[in-house]
Amino acid sequence: MSWVSQIARPDIVALEAYEPAAWEPELTRLHANELPWRSPGDESHAGLNRYPEPQPRALLERLALLYGVAPHAVLVGRGSDEAIDLLVRAFCRAGEDAVLTLTPSFGMYAAAARIQGAQLLSVPLRPGAGFALDANAVLARCTPAVRLVFLCSPNNPTGNLLSEAAILAIADALAGRALVVVDEAYIEFAGRESLAREVQRRPQLAVLRTLSKAHGLAGARCGALIADPEVIALLRKVIAPYAVPQLAIEALLRLLEPPALVAVGERIALLRAERSRMLAALARLPRVTRVWPSDANFLLAQFSDATAALERAREARLLVRDARAYPGLPQSLRITVGTAAQNEQLLEAWR
Ligand SMILES: *Cc1c(COP(=O)(O)O)cnc(C)c1O
Repeated sequence: MSWVSQIARPDIVALEAYEPAAWEPELTRLHANELPWRSPGDESHAGLNRYPEPQPRALLERLALLYGVAPHAVLVGRGSDEAIDLLVRAFCRAGEDAVLTLTPSFGMYAAAARIQGAQLLSVPLRPGAGFALDANAVLARCTPAVRLVFLCSPNNPTGNLLSEAAILAIADALAGRALVVVDEAYIEFAGRESLAREVQRRPQLAVLRTLSKAHGLAGARCGALIADPEVIALLRKVIAPYAVPQLAIEALLRLLEPPALVAVGERIALLRAERSRMLAALARLPRVTRVWPSDANFLLAQFSDATAALERAREARLLVRDARAYPGLPQSLRITVGTAAQNEQLLEAWR
């Protein structure tokens, strides 16, 4: 038995996948109960009267090229949020298996675990060390019930990259026992290479990527899981058969053409420049008691009075994220880096 079938939910391993209507675009479709006519005004290429291709080949190939991996190592879904949900559903039996997360970190891992009824274990990042990952603490907390370990790098909401050596040490120690999922939603802003290249050598490692942040396509809802082909095959049994809508597929293929990717690179450079400027400017504000360096497109800052800072921002019609609900982040707000004009407006509101 493979390691994946030993750690995944046995009922999902045994599940016969739902067979969606065959995808044979050169034949006339009288097999999917679709209407044979387009709606007036439907300007899509394929026609919205047709179900889209499940796991569309062209999109998988485009994402595989973008992330430097093989297409069969990619699952595409409605944002990486969908992949997080699928992983928890496929690997965790309610009331038995566990998910391990770091704190403070992205809330979706815990939300997905709670919805599934999985146990939730957490390990604090080290606030005294720039929220560094403590590999030994993670491994010490890894009970045999742990099926998934979510590591977010750069981490939301603290903004720091996690040590690659620490991530790989965790993955190596858990080989065959758990899946270590590295969420790289913000990696493009970090100027550091993705860990996707390590997945082939370490099948217990998986990487989440998204088009929602650096690519500026949050509204298209597209994210990818890069994992061992056996993990991908397992999740394909669980994902909705027509997960990615045709309108999104067509827009994404257009927006992932090489000229669009050049523009993405230029905007990342702009964003990083604004991030440095904001970091310095925030640090100079008298009511900011601490601002953390960031490898992402947001900054975490601590205020003498976070409520007052939120109110000032709102009076200037600007929203920033209240981070006080995260453990260990008192009086803290998470600020997305905007355009130079938006950032200036925010600074002005806080001066
Ligand atoms: C924004 C974000 C995502 C992206 O989610 P999508 O569903 O792909 O839009 C994933 N992980 C983290 C940590 C995020 O902050």
